[in-house]
Parts: sequence; C-alpha cells; structure tokens
Amino acid sequence: MRVIKMQKNIFVYKVDRKNETFICTPLAIFEPRNEYHCELILELARREGKVVRVAGVGHSPSDLACTNEFMLRTTHLNRVLTVDKQKRRVVVQGGITLHQLHASLAQHGLAMINLGSISDQTLAGIVTTASHGTGIDYGVMSTQVISMIVLLADGSRVYCSRNEQPDLFLATVCGLGSTGLILNIELAVESSFHLKEVLESRSFEDTLSNLKQLVHSSEHTRFFWFPATDMMRVSMSNRTHETKRPGGSWFYDSFMGYHLVQLLLFLGIFFRTCNTWAGLLASWLVSSASSRVDDSYRVFNVECRYLQHTTEWAIPYENVEPCLRRLRKYFHEILVDPRERPHFPIEIRFSAPDDIWLSPSYNQQTCWIGIVQYKKLFEGSFELYIPTSKISCKCYRKWIRRDCFVTSTCNAISSDYL
Ligand SMILES: Cc1cc2nc3c(=O)[nH]c(=O)nc-3n(C[C@H](O)[C@H](O)[C@H](O)COP(=O)(O)OP(=O)(O)OC[C@H]3O[C@@H](n4cnc5c(N)ncnc54)[C@H](O)[C@@H]3O)c2cc1C
Repeated sequence: MRVIKMQKNIFVYKVDRKNETFICTPLAIFEPRNEYHCELILELARREGKVVRVAGVGHSPSDLACTNEFMLRTTHLNRVLTVDKQKRRVVVQGGITLHQLHASLAQHGLAMINLGSISDQTLAGIVTTASHGTGIDYGVMSTQVISMIVLLADGSRVYCSRNEQPDLFLATVCGLGSTGLILNIELAVESSFHLKEVLESRSFEDTLSNLKQLVHSSEHTRFFWFPATDMMRVSMSNRTHETKRPGGSWFYDSFMGYHLVQLLLFLGIFFRTCNTWAGLLASWLVSSASSRVDDSYRVFNVECRYLQHTTEWAIPYENVEPCLRRLRKYFHEILVDPRERPHFPIEIRFSAPDDIWLSPSYNQQTCWIGIVQYKKLFEGSFELYIPTSKISCKCYRKWIRRDCFVTSTCNAISSDYL
C-alpha cells in the first residue's frame, strides 16, 4: 500500500493541479493495492475516529472526493476479475478507468452499452454519480450495473443487487460515494460494435419543430447547438456492421477547428468580438452533412479541447422545447455583452427513466443540457453566466483541460421551474 508524500504532517491533494480548482488537505492519502489493504484503512480510520473519502481520478465536477481526513484513492484497484462472454457480463474492480475497461473488453469482443463524453473516469466514479451518455431508450450508465460488492464503514463486505440487499444497491448506484467503498462491479456489456454517426445541420426552429422525431430517429441522438448562428448540429448514431470509416481532416479539424478557434478565443480576452468570430468559425466548420463509422467508444466520446467551464442541467424530457426556447431568449437578451455569449456548442442529450433513488432520471425521461465556455474568459465568475440553480435537477460546472478537468457542483431540485 502506498501512502502519498507528507508535508509537515499534512497531505495536499489538488483535484486539478494546474487550476487548483479544489484543494483539500487530507491527513493521509492511501492507495491500497488489494481488498485487505482497504479493510486495514477502514480499521485504522475507526480506531482514529476519522472519516474515509474515496476518490477515483478526481474528474467529478465538484469537491465530492475532497476531505480533510482520510482519502482512499482507487488507482491500483483496477483489475478485470471475470469475463462471461456468453452472458455478456464482466466483473471488474471499481477503480478501473473506462479507457482500461474498453481495452480489456475489446480483447474479448465486448463493449460498454452506452457511454458519456469521456473515458478517463473510473467505473465506480461514473456508477456512483449516475453519469450518463445519450439515447432516449438508454438509461444512465449506473443502469448497466448488475451487482456490486461494497465495503461498508464497519468493515463488512456486502454483495448487493436488485434482488439481494436492494436498498444498499439502489442507494449506492448513485450514492456519491457515501454508502461505502465499491470494490467490485458486475457490469452488463454487449458484443463489440461499430457506431455509424450521421451529422446534419438544421436551424434552431426546424430542430425544435421536429424535436421528438429527431430524438427517436437514432439509438443515440444528441444535439450540438451553436447559439452564435442559431444552428443545431444533429448527431444520430446507430449500431452498424459497416467497416470503420473514421473521417475527419487535419486542416479543418485540427488546424482550424482547434488551433485557429483557440487563438480567437484567446484574443477574445482582449478583443471581445473575437469570441463571436470563434463561435461563427466553429459553427461554419461543421455546417455540412457528414458521417463516420468507428468503434463505439470512439463515437460516444468527444474530444474536450479547451480549458473550459461547463454547466449541465437535467430537466424532464417533456420540458425540452420550452426550456430551450427560454434559454435562447435569455441568450438573446445578454448578447449585448459578447463576453457572455456561448461561443461553444451547447450539448443536448437524453436518457431513459430509471429507478435509482438519487438519479436525476428517476422515473422520468430526461434531457441533459450542457454549456461550456472558454475558461480564461470566466475566471471564477461562471454564476454570472446563467442562473443554473433555478433550473437544474442536477447541475454542475466543470473546468476542463484537453484531457483533464475539475469543477464545482450545485445540486438543486426544482424541475418545476419551467
Ligand atoms: C470532461 C468531462 C466530461 C464528462 N462527461 C460526462 C458525461 O458525458 N456524462 C456524465 O454524466 N458525466 C460526465 N462527467 C462527470 C464524470 O463522469 C463524473 O464526475 C464521475 O464521477 C467522475 O469519475 P471519477 O473516477 O473521476 O470520480 P471522482 O471524481 O474521483 O469521485 C466522484 C465520486 O465518486 C465516488 N467514488 C469514486 N470511486 C468510488 C468507489 N470505488 N467507491 C465508492 N465511491 C467512489 C467519490 O467518493 C465521489 O463521491 C464528465 C466529467 C468531465 C471532467
């Protein structure tokens, strides 16, 4: 077992070292290598009267994993334990990252059923926060869990599923790490598959007029809304037997879509109109129809390119249209100040109802609306941008680097705002 470096009896844990979004000073940070180590840490905590907080890779858009007492990082609890190709089930340790999991599953011709925007997180991290992907008939990723082994604070090791210890199971699958340490997860998977993503651009009005039909037009529909041009990029992905055709071009995607847009965003700090140009350029770059076929996880995931703030809300599906109209009105009202214009696409995704106690999708089809802004323009003042707490069931803001992020959280239940 590894205990992280000590500085005058104090351990400093920066969730995002560069931006120092969240910092805590745990008394000790443990990196257990096996279950026995975990039991020892809990025993020590009991004797010392300390609380243990579990941390995955710290990608939560919040200070959830922070603590000033004992921190247990699951870095080394990342093994695949069993693979049942026939039943399409795997048992893995909670600390495995999704990237590691994709690689292991691929060796057995298997893949995760649905995914969110990135694969850097640990499996336990996404399970215990009910992280979501998109697809109106697909639940949040916690719904893929069949059973778990949880180590409780009293040291007991409990197997739970929908049939055995169902209360513990339903509390843990979106328990924000507060019910116990998730040691092992039995996960439903499917045979590995390619996704064909078809992208087309429509006006805001056209999209909203056909919203429900578009949402149901593919297995995994999502929208990227460019408020700068009122254009909606509709992404429709379906399972396919077609061979891989990744698509994309260095000049448009990398040089213009990343470097040039980032330059404009940077200049926007000094010359505000550059923000609008960045939004217009980003929108123009993706204005024509396109399609690609690739491994499922590559299509599910997106590239998080710039230092960003993000806020995301979950709203009941039936409120999507009025909510988006209201949001658009709000943007139009604030357009006078270009610093507050959403110059990145707003990501709109969907999920099926579930029965997980704390899940924002509990008993309801859900729409997720995520907005990002170039971080450098909004140092520490994102609340100015949108009154999130009034609208959200689950909302958060994230600070994202190209492959890393950190955030703070707000949770408010007022879905009747609309
Ligand atoms: C760029 C980016 C994109 C994202 N995209 C999406 C998205 O598309 N959809 C979405 O819904 N979310 C998304 N998220 C949020 C992310 O999926 C969740 O915050 C997830 O919890 C992060 O996992 P982690 O391993 O970093 O957990 P951490 O941030 O380390 O911890 C999160 C919580 O999980 C608990 N936890 C971790 N491991 C265990 C364990 N073994 N046992 C018990 N509790 C545990 C912690 O105590 C804490 O409460 C995104 C985040 C980022 C930064």
